[in-house]
Amino acid sequence: MPQFNDILQQISQQARCCFGQGKVANYIPALADVPAEQFSIAIHTVDGQTFSAGDAHATFSIQSVSKALTLTLAMQHHGDEIWRRVGKEPSGTAFNSLAQLEFETGIPRNPFINAGALVVCDALVSRVSAPVFNMLETARLLSANDKVVINKKVADSEYQHRHRNAAMAHLMKSFNNFDNDVDTVLRAYFSYCAIEMSSIELAKTFSYLANQGVCVQSGRQMLSAKQTQQVNSLLFTSGLYDAAGDFAFRVGIPAKSGVGGGIIGIVPGKFTVCVWSPELNEFGNSVAGLYALELLAEKLHISML
Ligand code: GLN
Repeated sequence: MPQFNDILQQISQQARCCFGQGKVANYIPALADVPAEQFSIAIHTVDGQTFSAGDAHATFSIQSVSKALTLTLAMQHHGDEIWRRVGKEPSGTAFNSLAQLEFETGIPRNPFINAGALVVCDALVSRVSAPVFNMLETARLLSANDKVVINKKVADSEYQHRHRNAAMAHLMKSFNNFDNDVDTVLRAYFSYCAIEMSSIELAKTFSYLANQGVCVQSGRQMLSAKQTQQVNSLLFTSGLYDAAGDFAFRVGIPAKSGVGGGIIGIVPGKFTVCVWSPELNEFGNSVAGLYALELLAEKLHISML
């Protein structure tokens, strides 16, 4: 599809005009050192083709993009039971907010804010004997790269600055919505966030969300078709935190961002797209990444509505 290649090249050029408009995440010190002016975009189609432009082989910290995978694994192990412990509503607050937890008796609004991802991670730790190894193996299988690693420096740096996430976990424990040792779950959560992948690998990893739950590369059934639709719906309403509405307005597809600057987008039945650029806006979403997805939506008419 030469047309895809041309479009991605154009977007890669245009997105560079965003450089300088945001800030690289620095509340995790190990992420602050990442050079700001980088961009990549990759598409992986449900018939197994990959198209990319920019630094598409450069790896980065996937951060909260991992939350979509953690939820997938927790759904595999807990089925619908998981929804007793985490909600399905947009939060309208920052990804690391504690505010609603107090009023909503320790049930986080959705699985994609930090509190929700911590509960989901806690549920996974209860059922999986080696949760970090298990996640890494899954990431390697889905991305078709057995060299994918967890960046220990990033995971340790987050652990050193864990206080806000630890506070959420302890608050949920006080409401009986957290079963395991807080430190054990935090270590697993930070390890998931510190997985490093390229845009191409991330686009491959989430191919199952565009393909009714079946990973395009490995053929592994990750979720049922119905569960896949459920995850995509939640990504649509909550994947970009308190900017999810603006993103739906501008782009109109299920997506998940991370403070490493990556965003994964799902076009069900067609392809997954991953964009990456480290500078973030005030909501913790990549500035050039958002602009690139907006351009892609305009050029390929991918909006779901
Ligand atoms: N590891 C980060 C945190 O817990 C993830 C945040 C993000 O990517 N939005 O703060």
